[in-house]
Amino acid sequence: MINFEEMGFTPGILKAIQELGFEQPLPVQSKVIPHMLGGESDIIALAQTGTGKTAAFGLPLVQATDTAINSTQALILCPTRELCIQITGDLTDYSKYTGSLRILSVYGGASIDNQIKGLKRGAHIIVATPGRLIDLIGRGAARLNNVKTVILDEADEMLNMGFLDSINEILEEVPRGRRTLLFSATMSSEIASIARKYMNEPVEITIGTKNSSAENVSHAYYIVHARDKYKVLKRIADFEPDIYAIVFCRTRKETQEVASKLINDGYNADALHGDLSQAQRDAVMQKFRLRNLHMLVATDVAARGLDVDDLTHVINFSLPDDAEIYTHRCGRTGRAGKTGISISLVHMREKQNLQRIERLVKKSFKSMPIPTGSEICGKQLFNWINKLETVSTDHQEIEKFLPEIKVKLAGMDREEFIRRVVSLEFDRFLDDYRNGEDISDIIPENDTSYERPGKRGSREKYSGNYTRLFINLGKSDGFYPEQLIQLVNTNTKGRKVPIGKIDLLKSFSFFEVETGYADDLIKALNNSNFMNQKVAVEIAQPKNGKPDNHSGYQGKKPSKWTGRKREKKSYPSTAW
Ligand code: AMP
Repeated sequence: MINFEEMGFTPGILKAIQELGFEQPLPVQSKVIPHMLGGESDIIALAQTGTGKTAAFGLPLVQATDTAINSTQALILCPTRELCIQITGDLTDYSKYTGSLRILSVYGGASIDNQIKGLKRGAHIIVATPGRLIDLIGRGAARLNNVKTVILDEADEMLNMGFLDSINEILEEVPRGRRTLLFSATMSSEIASIARKYMNEPVEITIGTKNSSAENVSHAYYIVHARDKYKVLKRIADFEPDIYAIVFCRTRKETQEVASKLINDGYNADALHGDLSQAQRDAVMQKFRLRNLHMLVATDVAARGLDVDDLTHVINFSLPDDAEIYTHRCGRTGRAGKTGISISLVHMREKQNLQRIERLVKKSFKSMPIPTGSEICGKQLFNWINKLETVSTDHQEIEKFLPEIKVKLAGMDREEFIRRVVSLEFDRFLDDYRNGEDISDIIPENDTSYERPGKRGSREKYSGNYTRLFINLGKSDGFYPEQLIQLVNTNTKGRKVPIGKIDLLKSFSFFEVETGYADDLIKALNNSNFMNQKVAVEIAQPKNGKPDNHSGYQGKKPSKWTGRKREKKSYPSTAW
């Protein structure tokens, strides 16, 4: 692979490339730049967004533009105002050391008068959305008679947005002898027809497989009941503490609903859809770019042109009808050589749609089990502990308080201290998941494709022998899974006692314990107190009166145990 120096760039452009931190050309650049610098041919490049295509056409374009000539020499058409602004910014960066190149962006939703003034001052390169450019041509403000190069960027998106007629009209305005480059994530019959009509024996360059998704994006899905979609979204977000994602919804209403729920539940999230004013959309996008938002809930149309690097996930809250739209969505992660994950929440009826998308994307999608409350708490806990390990403690202000703090905590041993700090920090998760129903039950039984290493503790536990115990403490005593686990841990002196399902009631509760530990645990707990109350534990009696004989309670038996009407909620857990 040749490097940027060997490609024939001028020292000024090489300096700009170096400042941008581009060390090696990305694949689309290695393929497109030599054609652009070394030949005259038209080019069709099939490449996803985020693959580095702006530099692939932008660097050679900046080099080829003669700033001594005071006319528009290149025209870049792209689907959205945001992309216009971004391309203009990128070209400005590339031309930092190459003299007074004037680049102007013109797009809808902004003052046309200012754009007319800009055009009067003269622009060497115009970056435009098709609709606004037609308007400016109609007013005699944009003159394209000296244009030598036309770039159609995200051509498939422009066609999806209904710009075909405008593109046709604009291409009729530009001199026949120009060079045309077309960039698109997918190849469709409309793209092929534009190529036939307006391009001259184009060289076709494909990055990856035609119409396929980016190489470094993996695809996963969760089978969920429609009513559980939001709960599963929350679990995914909680299971990925460093999530930075776009959540795609189908309609504006759904987008707003999901975003509002996330905000109410305390997530850094916001909505992006067409009912917002341009100023509101700009503000949301800016917050997302700055990572003040961790999840952006958006419609496909609103998210067009939003190019953000380093997204960890794309989440398809609703699958798109059109498989091509899926390709666009997932192309937003795994950019610039990084890896990314595209997650889809699908209910059984949508499986066929998913398979159609799978065929188009040419990758197999992995079915994932929904993280359990216990797994989420564990993940959050260890993420927090990692942060605790690396946090800087170099704060002078803290020093003066330390002696008094030490005195205050003098009576607390290390283990108790850790337990309290963790409980304090994990209140929200423990609250959310302590009594959460186990929505992971809806994973299809025949699913064998999931391979998270060493995980799914609670499911495995259910395959062992468990004994169900009765305890005389309930929610009215302030007794929740956290307290049960603490009680077990304190009274079993460091032994890791596997706890299964917990059913909490108002004044008493049931919980499962691995059968081998049951007798010892009953003994230990019967000698203990909880909040000045004597603890009483015994093997739970089924309704028919026969005691459970430790013979292999499998964890998911129907609720036939004695006691008041059983509450539905349960919490699979282990004593950590
Ligand atoms: P694009 O597809 O043009 O939107 O580019 C996606 C991202 O890749 C942008 O953040 C670029 O700054 C970055 N990028 C482009 N070329 C390179 C390169 N050669 N090395 C590293 N990053 C690059």
